[in-house]
Amino acid sequence: MRTIDAILRPGADAFEPHPQADVPAGERPAAVAEPVSVEEVQAVVRHAARAGLRIAVHTTGRGVRQTGRLADTLLVRTGALGGARLDAPARIVRAGGGSVWADVTRVAAPAGLAPIAIPTPTVGVAGTVLAGGVGWLSRRHGLTSESLRAVELVTADGRLVRADHERERDLFWALRGGGGGLGVVTAVELAVVDPGPIHGGTLRWPAARARDVLHAWREWTLEVPREVTSMARLAGGGDEAATLVEAVLLADAPAADALLAPLRALDPAGDGVRPLAPADLDALHADVLGGRPVHYDHLLLHDLPAEALDVFLDVAGPQAGFPMLDVELRHLGGALDDRGRRSGALGSLDAGYLLVVAAAPERADVARDLVEELSPWAAGHIFLSFVAPDTPDAEVSPADTRRRLWAVRALHDPEDRFVAPLGHLTGVAAPPADRGPLG
Ligand SMILES: Cc1cc2nc3c(=O)[nH]c(=O)nc-3n(C[C@H](O)[C@H](O)[C@H](O)COP(=O)(O)OP(=O)(O)OC[C@H]3O[C@@H](n4cnc5c(N)ncnc54)[C@H](O)[C@@H]3O)c2cc1C
Repeated sequence: MRTIDAILRPGADAFEPHPQADVPAGERPAAVAEPVSVEEVQAVVRHAARAGLRIAVHTTGRGVRQTGRLADTLLVRTGALGGARLDAPARIVRAGGGSVWADVTRVAAPAGLAPIAIPTPTVGVAGTVLAGGVGWLSRRHGLTSESLRAVELVTADGRLVRADHERERDLFWALRGGGGGLGVVTAVELAVVDPGPIHGGTLRWPAARARDVLHAWREWTLEVPREVTSMARLAGGGDEAATLVEAVLLADAPAADALLAPLRALDPAGDGVRPLAPADLDALHADVLGGRPVHYDHLLLHDLPAEALDVFLDVAGPQAGFPMLDVELRHLGGALDDRGRRSGALGSLDAGYLLVVAAAPERADVARDLVEELSPWAAGHIFLSFVAPDTPDAEVSPADTRRRLWAVRALHDPEDRFVAPLGHLTGVAAPPADRGPLG
C-alpha cells in the first residue's frame, strides 16, 4: 500500500528538525510521514490511530515555538501537498496544505493581486492562518486568518472535511486563528486583494542613530493612516547592527512622498523606498537570521509611549551593544483593531504594536528580560503566531473563546489525537474548570 511509502523509518533525513524549529533538544517523533495526496493523508491519520500515536503536523517546521512535544507522535510533513491556483474573477487563491506564501504570491501577483500574507515568503500558509498572521497589508485589510474563505482538512477519524462560511461553521471559526490541532489541512482558499499603487522599502541608518530614529518613527506611527504599515528594526546585532524602518504605503508617489517626509528628514544613509508591484512585497523584509538557531520572544503592546521606547532602547539598543540578532517593533492597529470585523477565533489583535525578538539561544535571557521590562505596556494577551508552548491558557484567549475552541475540538478530535500547539486545545479528557459545558 502507498501509505507504507509515505511513512518513513527513523534515520531518514525527515526526522531532523529544521535548525530554527523550537523542538525540545534531542526530541524526535516516533515516525514521520510525507504524504503526497489527500488519500495518503487519510491513510496516515488512520494508521496513527491504529498504532496509538498522536499526530503533529509541519509544513516548514519553522513555526515559532508551536510544535509542542514530539515524543510518541507521528509527524506529518505536508510539503508535498503544495501548489496554488488563482480564480481571478473571484479573487480567490486555492493553495495546497503544504504551500508557503511564495506559492500564493506567484499565482496572484501576475494578476495584480496580493494575499494578506506575512512578510516572510518561506513561511507556511496553513500554519500562518491557523495562528492569525499579520503582514504588510494588515493595517488596511486585517488579519491573514480573516482572509480565509474555506479550509479542507483530514480530521482525526480520517474524513476529509470542508469548512467555510456555510458548512462546518464552528470548525471554520476555530480554524481562523484558533491555533490548529484540529486535523491535517490539505488545502485552503484565501481572498486576495488589489492593493492599488504601492510604495515601499527600507530606510537605513547607522546603528548609533537608533534612539533618535526610533523616537521619530514612534511619533510618525501616531499620525499615519491605515494605508501605511511599518516596523522599526534593530537588525543584525553586535557590530553588524543597523537601524531600519521598513514600510509599505498603499499610496501613489506624491502621497507616499508626503507621508515619508518626516522620516526622510532624518537623513537616512540608505533609502530603498520605491514603487512596488505585489510580487515585490515578498522580498521587502530582510532576512538577517539565515539558517541559524534562534530563540524567539514576542509581546503585544497596548501602546508605545516614549517611556516604553526608552526602556526598549536601554535593553536592546546601543548602550547594551545590540545584544539580539533582530528586534522588531511592528505598528499594528488600523484594520487589525476593528472589533466589528471579528469573525474567526482570533478576529482582531486589539494592540497597537508588536515586539518580535530573535536572539541567539545563548542570549535567550536578554530576550526574556526585554519582554519583562516592557510588560507594563503589554496588551494583556499573546499572539499565537509567536507563542511559547508553555504559555498559560488564560493569556492566549478569553474564556468564552477557549470554551468554544474546546467544544469544537471535543467534537472533531474526541481522543485528543492531534498535538495542538497550545494547552488550550489539549487535554479534552480533563477539561479545566473554565471550559464549561459544550456549547
Ligand atoms: C522567519 C519567520 C518570520 C515570521 N514572520 C511572521 C510575520 O511577519 N507575521 C506573522 O503573523 N507570523 C510570522 N511568523 C510566524 C508564522 O506565521 C508561524 O510560526 C506559522 O505557524 C509558521 O507556519 P509554518 O507552516 O511555516 O511552520 P510549521 O512549524 O510547519 O507549522 C507551525 C504549526 O502550524 C500547524 N500547521 C502547519 N501546517 C499545517 C497543516 N498543513 N495542517 C495542520 N496544521 C498545520 C502545526 O500546529 C504546526 O506546529 C514568522 C515565522 C518565521 C519562522
